[in-house]
This record gives sequence, structure tokens and C-alpha cells, in this order.
Amino acid sequence: GGGFVQTYTDITERKRFETALRDARDAAEKASQVRTAFLATMSHEIRTPLNGIIGMSSILETTRLSAAQRGHLKSIHECGEALLDIVNDVLDYAKLDSGAVQLEPTVVDVRALTTSVKEMLGQRAQEKNLRFDIVVADDVPALIETDGTRIRQVLINLVANALKFTLQGGVVVSVGTRTLATGRPGLRFSIIDSGIGIAEDSHAQLFKEFSQVDASITRRFGGTGLGLAICKRIVDAMGGEIGVESTLGKGSVFWFDVPAPQADGALRPAERAPR
Ligand code: ADP
Repeated sequence: GGGFVQTYTDITERKRFETALRDARDAAEKASQVRTAFLATMSHEIRTPLNGIIGMSSILETTRLSAAQRGHLKSIHECGEALLDIVNDVLDYAKLDSGAVQLEPTVVDVRALTTSVKEMLGQRAQEKNLRFDIVVADDVPALIETDGTRIRQVLINLVANALKFTLQGGVVVSVGTRTLATGRPGLRFSIIDSGIGIAEDSHAQLFKEFSQVDASITRRFGGTGLGLAICKRIVDAMGGEIGVESTLGKGSVFWFDVPAPQADGALRPAERAPR
């Protein structure tokens, strides 16, 4: 009597539990897909009119204006650019979140790449009166086979962060060769800053989405907490590694390693990255 009822109850209870668990899992997956789709659509819809605002303010800058008007216009332009940065982060992240990162390897001139990053962010450094140097070691091959657009994206993200969180001194980027854990030839990019630094207990959180070290810093510096999560996803997809060493109040070194097979015709097949 009691034994049967007991067993029957156990089985139905377990079934009910399993069903509930599966439903919860399905719902969570669905919610994540909906969130990603929502972020992608919203970002896209916001980007179009925002580009209109930035474009029109650029045109206005070429017209005859009073000093005050020029100042206001500059603010409009800068706010537009800042908002576009955020929207681009969210859109990038949504794309990366919804599927595998599509890599497009080509032959990349490492020194040309770093020079373009220097040109792009040099002004930001100048405005804050920060030193900003990029040093590429002599043994780094002139041409490598990789997705240059992705490397550039990660580098810009890390350098922009370094400049943002540095109030005096400056930022040095160093690029050197390195054999990866897989035994493949690689490059290490180190972004070294003399900025505010990050307490040890926050290091593990940094590369997770929407994570910022603390609320007061967020208010002071702004940002979405997505930049490093995006970097990590890209570097992971490339078969590389990303990390940080940092001391609060002293500065940070963000580094990433990526496979970088030399691309110069002298390449032996064994050195080619398997794909
Ligand atoms: P955010 O858009 O907020 O900058 P990130 O993912 O790029 O998002 O960075 C996450 C957090 O990591 C930042 O909010 C900041 O607290 C910290 N951080 C990132 N880079 C640095 C750095 N170079 N120096 C100090 N703190 C940093």
C-alpha cells in the first residue's frame, strides 16, 4: 500500500521537477535570444539617425559661426560620437553573442596596422597630455596572416581604455613575437598604462559582459562594460589568449596573444595555421 504510493509520488515528483527544469532552461535560452535580437535591432535603429546628427554637425562646422556657436556644435558632435561608440559596442556584442565570430584572415602589415591605431587615438592622448608610443620589436615579421580588422578592433579597445583610465604619464603599446601554448608562432600585444589600476579581486570579473570595477568609477568615466567582453570573444575566436596584470593606483598591463603565421612566400607549409 504505502510503498506503492510512495514510489508513485517519487516518480511524478521527479518528472514534474525535470519538466520544470527543462522549461526553465528553454525559457532562459529563449530570453537570451530575444535579448540579443532586441539589442541588435535597437542598436541598428539608433545608429542611423545618430549618423545623421553627426554628419549634419560636421557640415555645420564648415559654416560661419560665432565662437560660442562653434563650442556648442563641438559638444553636439562629441556627444554624438560618444553615443555612437556605445551603440557600436552594444551592436558588436549582440552580434558576437548570437553566433560564432566570423574571421577573415588576410595578409596584414603589422607596422602599418599599429601606425593607423596611433594616428586614430593620438589626438585623444594629446588632448589629455599623455605620452603615447607604439613599439614593434625587430623580430616581428613584416607580414603575417591574420584577421587584421579584428586585431585592430581589440587593440583600439584596449588602447582607448588605457587612455581613458590614465590621468598622467601615458600609454605604451609593445608588440613582440611569442610561441603560443599550441606551439604555433604568435604575437603578443601589451598595452601598458600608468593609470588608475585595478584591484586584484576585480581582475577575474573584468572580461565578463557589463562588468565595471565600481559604480563611482563608472560615473566618472562612463562606458558600457562591454569592451573587454568583446575583446575576449574575438581573441578566443582567433585561438589566442587575453589577460591583465594591474596594481591599484599604479597602472595596468592588458595583453593579448594571437596566432601570427608569417606570410611572405618563404613560409613552410608546417608553419601555416591549420584551419
Ligand atoms: P567600459 O566600457 O566600462 O570601459 P570595458 O569592458 O572596456 O568597459 O572595461 C570594464 C571595466 O574595466 C572598466 O569600466 C574599468 O573599470 C576597468 N578597466 C578597463 N581598462 C582599464 C585600464 N586600462 N585601467 C583601469 N581600469 C580599466
